[in-house]
Amino acid sequence: MNSQGITVLGATGSIGVNTLDVVAAHADRYHVVALTAHRQVDKLFAQCLQFRPLLAVVADAASAVQLQQRLREAGCSTEVAYGEAALETAATLPEAQMVMAAIVGAAGLRPTLAAARLGKRILLANKESLVVAGELFMHTVRQSGAELLPVDSEHNAIFQSLPRGYDGSLDGNGIEQLILTASGGPFRQREAATLLHVTPDDACNHPNWVMGRKISVDSASLMNKGLEVIEAHWLFNAPAERIEVVVHPQSVIHSMVRYKDGSVIAQLGSPDMRTPIAYAMAWPERIVAPVKSLDFLTLSALTFEAPDLLRFPCLRLAFDALRAGGAASAVLNAANEVAVEAFLQRRIGFVDIPRLVERALQSLNLAACTDLESLLQRDAETRARVESWVAA
Ligand code: NDP
Repeated sequence: MNSQGITVLGATGSIGVNTLDVVAAHADRYHVVALTAHRQVDKLFAQCLQFRPLLAVVADAASAVQLQQRLREAGCSTEVAYGEAALETAATLPEAQMVMAAIVGAAGLRPTLAAARLGKRILLANKESLVVAGELFMHTVRQSGAELLPVDSEHNAIFQSLPRGYDGSLDGNGIEQLILTASGGPFRQREAATLLHVTPDDACNHPNWVMGRKISVDSASLMNKGLEVIEAHWLFNAPAERIEVVVHPQSVIHSMVRYKDGSVIAQLGSPDMRTPIAYAMAWPERIVAPVKSLDFLTLSALTFEAPDLLRFPCLRLAFDALRAGGAASAVLNAANEVAVEAFLQRRIGFVDIPRLVERALQSLNLAACTDLESLLQRDAETRARVESWVAA
């Protein structure tokens, strides 16, 4: 078969590195067209030497000049560019049939949307794109005929558990509910009072998954599950009341679909992102992923419990934002990004994250935005306001 070109947005992150692992395991099927990073220029340099992309993108001019020179000296012909416009260039190069969207946060929206406009296969890890601009994003995908394949393990599991060719109608396909599983994060068994004192390192110490720091904090606060509820709403056209969240600490069942006849179809596997990444890259085929296979004889028990919305209000806030509609999800996301960054910098406590998000939802403008520029404007306004509350 012809080798397919892939651009990896956010190549130096956890998802980016796992994606390149799958590419390396299938060098006959895939080749890298472009790689983007933000600050980790040394890591990007090493990736360029290994995968020889046409284009590499970094955040600023000084890093770009330095990287370009190092690559030339190493005999690598990769061109280096920098900044937001270059991210869009990377996402839209004609040589790439597919784009892994693995930039963290709303920063991933523009390039991911640009790839969608061109009708590429989008491997979507960057859930914030859908949280901020779900309607616009899905409209773009429908218009361009882009293939949108969820990489988030829960949505990938649901995608695998839905009927092939699912057309966005739960009722038309005999579906009762989508069930998102949640590990519960590192603080699942903590007393509420002790959450006052947890540190960024405590929050990033996830029991099952190794991930970037932002999503790790989101997992600890259950905001990650809230963002996933919104993501599931857009991906599968499911209203809030047909999405259930169940805490499943072992992270073996990655999510499920409950059908009206009483059947529940689930996808299981080791907690390793290379499985959903390989699935999305090769779909509808299945290829080998370099992961440990699930050994049922060493699994002790699969347990389930309800999420605690009092200790972890972020999940409730995300449901509230989804039900409120308009730009509420974009405001929730922007407030959360600022709050998580402030927590990682030890400027606020862990329990201040939901407080800031709730304050944003209660006091900022949630009216719908009609286009990308006004959405990004709202995102920027929200960030400025929440930042001022953090600084006060
Ligand atoms: P990481 O923090 O590990 O990586 C983020 C990537 O984005 C890095 O390559 C980083 O560059 C780049 N980046 C950061 N900020 C910017 C910016 N402003 N502009 C351009 N690039 C930027 O995150 P993860 O890989 O963990 O997560 C990536 C996305 O995938 C998130 O949306 C997350 O929610 C989602 N996801 C992650 C999962 C996981 O297991 N990690 C599971 C499911 C979804 P650099 O490193 O050079 O600074």
